Amino acid sequence: MRIAMVSAHTSPLAPLGGRETGGMNVYVLELSRELAALGCNVDIFTRLDGDLPRVEPVAPGLRLVRIDAGPAAPIEKEAIVAHLPEFVRNLYTFACAAPPYDLIHSHYWQSGWAGTILARRLALPHVVMFHTLGEVKNRARFGEAEPTLRIRHERTIARRADAIVTASNHERQLLERYYGADPAKMHTVPCGIDLERFRPLPRSEARARLGLPADIPILLWVGRVERLKGLEILLDAVAGLERADARLLIVGGDDRAAPLRAELEAQARALGIADRITFTGAVEHASLPWYYSAADICVVPSFYESFGLVAVEAMACGTPVVASRVGGLTSTVIDGVTGYLIPWRCPEPFSEKLDVLLANPELRANFGRAARASVERFRWSTVARRIAEVYETACERRGRRPALPPAAIADR
Ligand code: UDP
Repeated sequence: MRIAMVSAHTSPLAPLGGRETGGMNVYVLELSRELAALGCNVDIFTRLDGDLPRVEPVAPGLRLVRIDAGPAAPIEKEAIVAHLPEFVRNLYTFACAAPPYDLIHSHYWQSGWAGTILARRLALPHVVMFHTLGEVKNRARFGEAEPTLRIRHERTIARRADAIVTASNHERQLLERYYGADPAKMHTVPCGIDLERFRPLPRSEARARLGLPADIPILLWVGRVERLKGLEILLDAVAGLERADARLLIVGGDDRAAPLRAELEAQARALGIADRITFTGAVEHASLPWYYSAADICVVPSFYESFGLVAVEAMACGTPVVASRVGGLTSTVIDGVTGYLIPWRCPEPFSEKLDVLLANPELRANFGRAARASVERFRWSTVARRIAEVYETACERRGRRPALPPAAIADR
């Protein structure tokens, strides 16, 4: 099976932790790797945004193809929309010259839009995954203003796709409620995680490596530094802790996060906790297991997460999670077992649960063990086979016989 994976606005090979480089990048790259390992041929298509090769081999059976669309330089995600017609035209030309693809799998609404048009022109099945939805973002946090164009396109993409992958049941319900998506076309498959990379490492070694003291409580936040992540709630929560020696590491953020970071630093100063907060900037994915293992608790105070990879990565490293009770987090964090889910987006209940865990090492250890055990269901090989099943269903909808490699169907 030859798959055209479309990720127009962000390259899966770009450094993580930037404004537009987070969970979706990890997902597209890791899913593609896993499908290629199963015997599929995968080309990931992204916009050319620098002096970079047009076609870059990534692994056997997996290539990254950069398509001309607008300037060959980084541009704001919102500005990419204007170049999508060119992206579609050039991807179409590339696809016509290449051995035929069997299916298009697109990610996020911009690529979903491109995928919808390409699927029609190339007469291919189209599988879409939205990752976030405009309507849901607007409802999650006061002040979010996703354009109506996005929401209108999302509705059309959902209607025309042969299959929609949702990362959680919650996302599936939202697609049905706000977008009228057909439940028969939706398939809930959680995101995957590399359980060999994300595993518990010795805490004292992790702290020593990161230059962190051995004997004080460490809280950890990881992600793209953006407003929807609720960092201001977390700072208030840290200021309200009984454990006044607890430190918070904020991992992630690039130059474009500078204005929000400056606001957060000002907030920390006003709260009198600036000396307890460390902004590390973005950290390589491969180094993150040391951070998760060094921390006592990982906190995810987001206003919304469609899945929330960070929470799962932390649990895979045996670190309990205190998270907002929103979106995908409600199906990954088990309240009172692997961490706590906080129903209100305000600091006090976060401080309270953090204090409970900080005061009780045995509880933390129990939660940590349960956390690691709970993430086995997110193993990539399992997730990729379930996605291959979705491809099969999408092909059948179009009356096509799917040509899945035997490894993708071996253990059914
Ligand atoms: N990440 C990273 N380095 C950083 C910050 C984040 O590798 O400095 C990764 C993190 O490990 C996770 C992803 O970015 O895999 C964030 O995914 P999540 O689903 O939590 O949030 P999203 O980006 O989808 O909003």
